[in-house]
Amino acid sequence: MHEAGVRKMSEMSETEVQELRARFRGELITPADAAYDDARKVYNAMIDRRPALIARCADVADVVAGVNFAREKGLLLAVRGGGHNGPGLGVCDGGLVIDLSRLRGIRVDQKEQTVRVDGGCLWGDVDHATHPFGLAVPSGFISTTGVGGLTLGGGIGYLSRKYGLTVDNLLGVDVVLADGRLVTASAAENADLFWAVRGGGGNFGVVTSFLFRGRPVGTVYGGPIFWPLDKAAEVMRFWRDFILEAPEDINGWFAFATVPPVPMFPAEHHMKKVCLVTWCYTGDLGKAEEAFKPIRQFSPPLMDFAGPIPFPVLQSLYDGLYPAGLQWYWKADFFRELTDKAVDLHQKYGERLPTPHSTMHLYPINGAAGRVAEGDTAFSFRDAKFAEVVVGVDPDPASNPRLIQWAKDYWLALHPFSAGGGYVNMMMDEGEDTVKAAYRDNYARLAEVKRKYDPGNLFRVNQNIQPA
Ligand SMILES: Cc1cc2nc3c(=O)[nH]c(=O)nc-3n(C[C@H](O)[C@H](O)[C@H](O)COP(=O)(O)OP(=O)(O)OC[C@H]3O[C@@H](n4cnc5c(N)ncnc54)[C@H](O)[C@@H]3O)c2cc1C
Repeated sequence: MHEAGVRKMSEMSETEVQELRARFRGELITPADAAYDDARKVYNAMIDRRPALIARCADVADVVAGVNFAREKGLLLAVRGGGHNGPGLGVCDGGLVIDLSRLRGIRVDQKEQTVRVDGGCLWGDVDHATHPFGLAVPSGFISTTGVGGLTLGGGIGYLSRKYGLTVDNLLGVDVVLADGRLVTASAAENADLFWAVRGGGGNFGVVTSFLFRGRPVGTVYGGPIFWPLDKAAEVMRFWRDFILEAPEDINGWFAFATVPPVPMFPAEHHMKKVCLVTWCYTGDLGKAEEAFKPIRQFSPPLMDFAGPIPFPVLQSLYDGLYPAGLQWYWKADFFRELTDKAVDLHQKYGERLPTPHSTMHLYPINGAAGRVAEGDTAFSFRDAKFAEVVVGVDPDPASNPRLIQWAKDYWLALHPFSAGGGYVNMMMDEGEDTVKAAYRDNYARLAEVKRKYDPGNLFRVNQNIQPA
């Protein structure tokens, strides 16, 4: 992602910084500032990069100034939304970081049932703003993730089966392009750009504002149900068959995990490796118990926490378990089916979780997400039924070799069963072939749109699409 010809300066002269300061309202943070080390940190502590300058924007004009400055000076440019990206694509070594974390405004339009979200918001901001109005925007499974990166890559979450991916609920974006112009992209305006940002990542510009359709979601019936590890294959087979046929009101993602030693869990289960499904039922609450009967009956759960829960609480259930600052190594693939042979391999590698935070998730992406045609958005794998992510996670960098090896081995064992590519938001920086595999037939069209809007590849610190 950092090709030759781009200035990767590690320090910038005070005169150059002053040049930007003259047209900038937010904070400009250099390596000489006390705030620098905190400002360059991203969620994944495996990433340790040192930009020459961090431009924490106060408004859209600041974003325009930052983009123009990077282009004019030939600087490597990274754009930071929530900073959650696995390979740390919100920060760069040398060059400029446009940091959107101060752009946090949200406006809910009750009449239109739409939600206008600034480019630096986190999903917790959105849930907080929409819940009092009985609305939610389909997002992910954790509230600390940035709206920017998650949306631009696709957005797989609790509401995907019912309302589609996050991009399927996107009505428009304001984007600062590589030439410094601010444009709107929607079905009616710059439709090619609107197609590309719905899955194509940060390749096309800095999105300063997202307009989403809000969905009627308030209190749902959900939470995790756990089963013993030795029952994982049986649970996965049940879950696979159930979720492929279940009403779209029901979502549930499968995981291998280790029970954290905290009071909400009985002490005898602490630090046990288990499997679980975290459910979210958005149908009539009066019918929830009935809907969950088959889930509770096929095999006795070890622990059962499913019940009525406000959607923002469900969304933030795992925030505490995964604070910023852990080491993360990600591998991803999509699957059209989950054969019994694949399930047996999951059992084998799930039993080998290398650390208590490490995990494997399988998310269903059938239902509404699967009804969108492959060419309708840049997100390509509409024919897949499941998205797999294997993540090795631990607080201690000394564990990295172990958790990286496990994640690679697990992914490699299952890859022959996959649809051939993975979700761009859940992989490391794995090179051009992996990006092409993620977009399949949509790659060539993305490369054309890239040539039109960013011919010089200014926005290259991302899962990069080369201009055609
Ligand atoms: C704990 C955890 C849970 C997750 N859960 C889910 C999940 O449930 N579902 C899911 O789909 N994904 C999930 N993800 C993956 C997540 O979607 C990606 O990590 C995503 O890149 C995070 O976006 P961000 O804005 O926080 O990241 P950043 O690191 O800030 O940015 C990621 C990329 O997006 C670009 N970008 C960010 N904002 C903008 C913007 N406004 N304009 C232009 N480009 C921008 C950046 O330049 C960078 O290339 C999860 C990640 C973590 C760490």
